[in-house]
Amino acid sequence: MSTMPIVYPLARNYIRGVFRELAGRSMAVQSPLDGSAISSVPLSGREVLDEAVVAAQEAYLGWSKWTIKERVQVFFRFRALLEQHKAELTALVSAENGKTFPEAEAEILKGMELCEFACSLPQILNDEIQEVSKGVECRTSHVPIGVVASIAPFNFPFMVPLWTIPNALALGNCMILKPSELVPLSAQRIAELLKEAGLPDGVFNIVNGDREIVEAICDHPGIEAVSFVGSTKVAKIVYQRATHNLKRCLALGGAKNHLIVLPDANPDISAANIAASMAGCAGQRCMAASAMVAVGKTDHIIHQICEEAKKIVPGKNLGSVITQAAKERIERYIAEAEAAGARILLDGRNALVAGKEGGYYVGPTVLDNVTPDMAIAKEEVFGPVLAIMRTDSIDQAIEIENRSEYGNAASVFTQSGGLANYIIERVSAGMVGVNVGVPVPREPFSFGGWNESRFGVGDITGKSSIHFWTKLKKTTTKWDPEAWKDWAS
Ligand code: NAD
Repeated sequence: MSTMPIVYPLARNYIRGVFRELAGRSMAVQSPLDGSAISSVPLSGREVLDEAVVAAQEAYLGWSKWTIKERVQVFFRFRALLEQHKAELTALVSAENGKTFPEAEAEILKGMELCEFACSLPQILNDEIQEVSKGVECRTSHVPIGVVASIAPFNFPFMVPLWTIPNALALGNCMILKPSELVPLSAQRIAELLKEAGLPDGVFNIVNGDREIVEAICDHPGIEAVSFVGSTKVAKIVYQRATHNLKRCLALGGAKNHLIVLPDANPDISAANIAASMAGCAGQRCMAASAMVAVGKTDHIIHQICEEAKKIVPGKNLGSVITQAAKERIERYIAEAEAAGARILLDGRNALVAGKEGGYYVGPTVLDNVTPDMAIAKEEVFGPVLAIMRTDSIDQAIEIENRSEYGNAASVFTQSGGLANYIIERVSAGMVGVNVGVPVPREPFSFGGWNESRFGVGDITGKSSIHFWTKLKKTTTKWDPEAWKDWAS
């Protein structure tokens, strides 16, 4: 990892294009890489949200009148600024989240791709028009909904906010972002760079805080739509509260992603993909491989997975998990699984990184002989841990996957197209891969899971998000086909 010096911004609320000085409750922001305090973040109260909503409502009067072609010019410039500031943003994401530089840089690159999609919206937003009867035309227009909110988790401080910002704003809305209080710093730079790209003040605002501000967002009568990304527990609370208050809501939750590995899978490709999926971003990806169902004679692949996983070393090419509490939770899951009869093939507990003893590291961990009833097989561990279950039957493997309450991703590893199709048709997940460890759809395909991994209709990115960020106006116009004769004759 690079040793480039980083200037850490103070996390402040950002309203009407101005950063507010810290006032009221706050908490320290720590770098999980070494546990050091690098900044602080305000834990705002409802009165700050009220101010941000008024600023956004006022900005909306102007911004919503810009044409979409004018609005996306901001995102062409913003994308260029991301490219220009890539190294600095990468270092910031790594410092506040704990991921490695290549993983942090991937977030910036994905952010750029999300901007590219927003910039293409004028080309794909084809409203319809048709003469439905003689002299009568119907047309549809996608109209912005007003002031919207976006609530983000800790695991992608840069990318997840950009799942929502470019599309929601390009489509004419004004936004209040509530970053995770654990990683509020990347959002500060997003605000500065949006301003530099020419975004009018008040169109984008940040209100920092914890549970109190999330509840205030769900209750606020001036906010029309709430998008949320985080754990299933909180996704349910947010979805229920926001829709109870008659808001549009899309809430993405947690995950328990299953891999089904067949004996004919290419061992090298499968092992490299599976190890990278379970340990990448320290397992803190909602798309991470977490449970593997090995069908039949797969010992050679499992052996290879362990060999690949051994190459992933804390502090070298493996970052930290987010907090000491997260480290303890992950290690508790491993200990409980071992006590319940699982066999530990690779043990990442008690990892320490020289010179970063205050950091929160867990090494890659592979457990064999896990049974479907164990907590580690059912619950989201959110660490670099792979729980392997064994079966001799493809249908039983599918049944194990189907039993999961979640449904974000599932992947199958095989060289048989027929078996791959059989399995992907039957797994219950919104994003499915064949010989792909992290089956994230790239733009313009949309991102979103099923079951308890998503509440609400539609996906959060891509074309599907257009429906969430707009409302459809249907205009019927009646013309008198003879009328022109009156004045032209
Ligand atoms: P989290 O649910 O703890 O926090 C998410 C947001 O909710 C934060 O901004 C936080 O301040 C707020 N929050 C926390 N507790 C709250 C409460 N009781 N009431 C109201 N608001 C509350 O999630 P996290 O730990 O930051 O992120 C990790 C989780 O996010 C994992 O479960 C992961 O799978 C999930 N995730 C899902 C996706 C997806 O696309 N489905 C993407 C990224 C992360």
